[in-house]
Amino acid sequence: MSVFQEEFAATSAAMRVRFGAGVRHAVGEEMERLGLGRALILTTPQQAVTGAEFAERLGARAVGVFSGAAMHTPVAVSEEATAKALELQADCVVAVGGGSTTGLAKAIALRTDLPQIVVPTTYAGSEATGILGQTEGGRKTTITTPKVQPEVILYDAELVRSLPVGMTVTSALNAMAHAAEGLYAQNRSPISTLMALEGMKAFRDALPRVLDDPDDLQARGETLYGAWLCGTVLGQVGMALHHKLCHTLGGSFDLPHAETHAVILPHAIAYNEGAAADLLAPVAEMFGGPSPGAALHRFAVAMKAPLALRDLGMAEADLDRAAEIATQNPYWNPRPVEKGALRRLLQAAWAGDAPVV
Ligand code: NAD
Repeated sequence: MSVFQEEFAATSAAMRVRFGAGVRHAVGEEMERLGLGRALILTTPQQAVTGAEFAERLGARAVGVFSGAAMHTPVAVSEEATAKALELQADCVVAVGGGSTTGLAKAIALRTDLPQIVVPTTYAGSEATGILGQTEGGRKTTITTPKVQPEVILYDAELVRSLPVGMTVTSALNAMAHAAEGLYAQNRSPISTLMALEGMKAFRDALPRVLDDPDDLQARGETLYGAWLCGTVLGQVGMALHHKLCHTLGGSFDLPHAETHAVILPHAIAYNEGAAADLLAPVAEMFGGPSPGAALHRFAVAMKAPLALRDLGMAEADLDRAAEIATQNPYWNPRPVEKGALRRLLQAAWAGDAPVV
């Protein structure tokens, strides 16, 4: 059956995307296409060596490396990096890393309008969205604007090969969560649905092969293809309960980003599967049923994903407060977000049990 909808609106961002093992070597060529010649390279401290390799390859076209990108895009770091970009008269930023590094590139673009070339090394998908989350004084806020949408994305399977197996799995489930929630988004379109289903399929097929052989470049490339599709869905449609819960757990309880997404995904989808039965039916079919939430749980178990919030440092005593916060200003969700049901969901996710419907 096609995914046709009688009424819909779809907006796609203008971005150039290239895939290929070794495509990171084309940063200079992509800069030339855009008439750019002075790149500031961005990484986290952990990926500083990769940043230095990019600088060496670009030669005079790299004016500096800033290796201070940090989780949740702290405003102070963004201001320091922006000052460096202005001081060095950079005419673009090249972000090499995961969602944290891409977040820094977006924060600089917000302040300067500098074009961004992003070379992702995780599956988080931020490179495909016009969304920027930033933190200041312990508060995370989100802005959505075309100003932060990267111009060029280079997906290089060779770079994602170094992602440790544990992070590979949690980052993949983080990406799949964008697609799963995209399936029931109020402003979904046939295009976002096609991308969501194809993105999930790419992970279903390629992730087991990556776990068998983390150096399998073809499988790594396919997971990046899944990341691009799932990230594009995130950029096009609204997110619901799953993302609200993960923002609550990350923002108020400091739980790690990708791991939290991995634990919550089957539970949030099980919560919504009655209210969005037709829309989620392909998920059960794709991952071998019997229901969408149970099928995703089975996949997570098979991929040896973390299953319990308690293993991520969540205290059982905080579950009431988490349910309270997550029910305040809820995002739109296909099933009303009710505190008692949410508390039961959190209990199961905390203990690592199968999802409750
Ligand atoms: P990350 O970027 O924080 O990376 C985690 C760690 O892994 C870092 O130390 C990093 O240097 C390291 N790393 C990354 N790639 C590696 C590789 N290939 N090999 C070895 N080490 C590697 O993690 P993430 O999960 O990609 O991003 C999380 C952040 O992105 C969060 O702040 C989240 O809010 C944000 N995000 C934003 C959007 C958006 O659209 N705005 C979307 C998804 C995620």
